[in-house]
Amino acid sequence: MGAPEAFTATTEVGHFIAGRAVAGRSGRRQPVYHPASGAVARQVALASVDEVNAAVAAAQAAFPAWADTPPIRRARVMQKFLELLNRHRDALAAIITAEHGKVFSDAQGEVTRGLEIVEFACGIPQLLKGDYSEQVSTGIDNWTMRQPLGVVAGVTPFNFPCMVPCWMFPVAIAAGNAFVLKPSERDPSASLLLADLLQQAGLPDGVFNVVQGDKLAVDTLLEHPDVKALSFVGSTPIAQHLYETGARHGKRVQALGGAKNHLVVMPDADLEQVVDALIGAGYGSAGERCMAISVAVLVGDVADRVVPMLAERVRALKVRDGMDPEAEMGPIVTRQALERIEGYVALGVEEGATLVVDGRGCRVPGCEGGFFTGGTLFDHVTPAMRIYREEIFGPVLACMRVPDFAAALELVNAHEFGNGVALFTGDGNVAREFGRRVQVGMVGINVPIPVPMAWQGFGGWKKSLFGDMHAYGEEGVRFYTKQKSIMQRWAGSIGKGAEFAMPTAK
Ligand code: NAD
Repeated sequence: MGAPEAFTATTEVGHFIAGRAVAGRSGRRQPVYHPASGAVARQVALASVDEVNAAVAAAQAAFPAWADTPPIRRARVMQKFLELLNRHRDALAAIITAEHGKVFSDAQGEVTRGLEIVEFACGIPQLLKGDYSEQVSTGIDNWTMRQPLGVVAGVTPFNFPCMVPCWMFPVAIAAGNAFVLKPSERDPSASLLLADLLQQAGLPDGVFNVVQGDKLAVDTLLEHPDVKALSFVGSTPIAQHLYETGARHGKRVQALGGAKNHLVVMPDADLEQVVDALIGAGYGSAGERCMAISVAVLVGDVADRVVPMLAERVRALKVRDGMDPEAEMGPIVTRQALERIEGYVALGVEEGATLVVDGRGCRVPGCEGGFFTGGTLFDHVTPAMRIYREEIFGPVLACMRVPDFAAALELVNAHEFGNGVALFTGDGNVAREFGRRVQVGMVGINVPIPVPMAWQGFGGWKKSLFGDMHAYGEEGVRFYTKQKSIMQRWAGSIGKGAEFAMPTAK
């Protein structure tokens, strides 16, 4: 299958500022690929400082009226947006598959998980409710309220061009903020359909803006005095840079970084279920998920039984164009990413790991120019190897052998990332102990990809998250609002004379 007709090399993906699609004027652009064919599909505009400033100015101008809009009316815009998202789910999924490469059903799943955050944001009047203490002193009441911050920005990665922006803007906007999104330059088009649907839903111009771009756009947002908070999802070095720079410029920052997620297999686990879980979580979306499982920790004698079962399934993976209904794994997002992944496979061999299945050099008939690699499986991986320590972000699963549960837990806890982890066991006591002791933010017990639901909040520990607030859920609402406390009394209860001592309850 070739590049879809709608994606021609001459089409430029531009910005969306103050309610209008705006062509790039910086003179800088970069190709966007159709990874299944390897063709250049489009060019994405890379914003200049002036273009980013224009988006922030549009958001700043829209903010006061939007912040004053009653939350129930903001929620109604979200409800209409939800309806439109549902109606356009497949169009959005097709854009994602075309530019990212993931299998179409996986792209539909991504849109659904994004849509769930919009459903959550529809409850914003309840979420913004403050608390109230009557009579904290005679005639005095005290209550809290949560108010929006102003202009807030989101910088998002290539691997979920719809879902990750939806972790941010529905909550931010419903809470009364104005938003500037800087999507990944590798798959930028989904953001413009989201902007269009928000406008159709009745969102006032300027409340949601999109600037396409690279480091220059991000640095401009980071330093802009009118941007009050920044949410980031992407790789760890950039997350750390944004967190530190944003804090230096007085902003709130939540910066979610990379991952190396382990799945621990106890000898009493159902091994058929374990293999299904490892294949889906290791190779689904070609391993380009921050919650993908990239390490299987095989306890006791499990390895000798599981590795041959895995090898058979990895060899049989159907690697195709993501629009092929038979496809289980699509192409990698860019040639550069493909080369990085295959470079790690070569490194694993050099480091002495056993290469059980080699996915390199995968050819897909009819898609000869596409960025394909097959599934790779390593055994006898050790903690010192770079293929264990570093995030590969591709369809490469490393098997490690440990003698017992304590060694498995120690291994997981020693890793610098702490995004997701899973344990497969039939023993409730082991599961309970694991849940309590593991140093990871999101834990699955017999669940391989434990992405928390919309109302629960998403975030890892250690180098997988910089900042203290998780994305979406109630922590998301807190991140995008500031608390104000009001203490009030009226003339009848005010005594005469100045008080010089610290006020206490009377
Ligand atoms: P990336 O860090 O390369 O890019 C993310 C965003 O940062 C993009 O919008 C990009 O334009 C921008 N950016 C890149 N370099 C920059 C720089 N030097 N200065 C400022 N901005 C810059 O990440 P990616 O390759 O798009 O996405 C994959 C990574 O994202 C993986 O590490 C994955 O684990 C991580 N990720 C994490 C989560 C999570 O929740 N923890 C979720 C999804 C993806």
